[in-house]
Amino acid sequence: MLRWNDKRYHTLDYEMKKTFGQKIIKLSLDGGFTCPNRDGQISDKGCIFCSEMGTGEFAGNRNCDITQQIAQQKQLLSTKWPTGKYIAYFQNFTNTYAPVDKLKELYLEALSATDIVGLALATRPDCLPPEVIDLLGKIAENNYLWVELGLQTRHERSANFIRRGYNLECFIDATDRLKEKNIKVVVHLILGLPGESIDEMLETVRFVGNLGVWGVKLHLLHILKDTDLYKYYRLNPFPLLSRDQYINLVCNTLEILPSSVVVHRVTGDGAKHLLEAPKWSLDKLRVLSGIDKELARRDSYQGSRYQKTSIK
Ligand code: SF4
Repeated sequence: MLRWNDKRYHTLDYEMKKTFGQKIIKLSLDGGFTCPNRDGQISDKGCIFCSEMGTGEFAGNRNCDITQQIAQQKQLLSTKWPTGKYIAYFQNFTNTYAPVDKLKELYLEALSATDIVGLALATRPDCLPPEVIDLLGKIAENNYLWVELGLQTRHERSANFIRRGYNLECFIDATDRLKEKNIKVVVHLILGLPGESIDEMLETVRFVGNLGVWGVKLHLLHILKDTDLYKYYRLNPFPLLSRDQYINLVCNTLEILPSSVVVHRVTGDGAKHLLEAPKWSLDKLRVLSGIDKELARRDSYQGSRYQKTSIK
């Protein structure tokens, strides 16, 4: 049976230690970007779950430059990890949504900081024009780089509900263009979207598992108070996943993903003061140990039920 240190799934922590020989810590940075799904270019509403901070509540202070933010974030994390190596993670809003020269300046500033061993960028597939892909390709030649794309679901009905603002073809095209440049792609998925059956959620997972991407991030749908999803939920309450349902679903998800896919996250990370529901998600350790226990009970592991299929 496959094992990734003490886990039955291929964690980012395992992958980082294998690659760099030590623990790697992510520093969340704010590059001062906005998002075309919020500034009116596509829409002025944003994704329905997007918070005031552009889904980056834990990022650095955008009034400071990148070098200062890196120093501040290191300091913030120093009680837990006094020393270490770091990935500079441009997390909130759309981190490729600026002229390419500006992007280059920001990324290179981050990469030149002490003890930074790589770069991670969260963005949208419709914000990756050829000149940006070329820049990222050049950076990836000499640096550790991954790019995160928020797919959330493969189903058009749900994509419309969450106001994602791009279609599946756009996502597939961006993924292909990034892979052509040997850039690692990480896909964000939301489990528990209203109106989606468990089978439909697993269909999205199978689709992503057959795309040849490097990593996935699994998010539990949670309701944050500063979002339109919260307003919708108050007017139209819909069932949320229970902890046991979620743990089962994550285990089913891990089983059908290829063992090579790096799992960056298996649960959400909403700010406590903003979280409306489900409250059980605040106890992350219980969720994580529930997943470990359930995989052990099943005697299964990531990839145990993976089947290669065509995505077309
Ligand atoms: S793409 Fe990201 S930043 Fe833009 S609206 Fe959606 S969640 Fe918010």
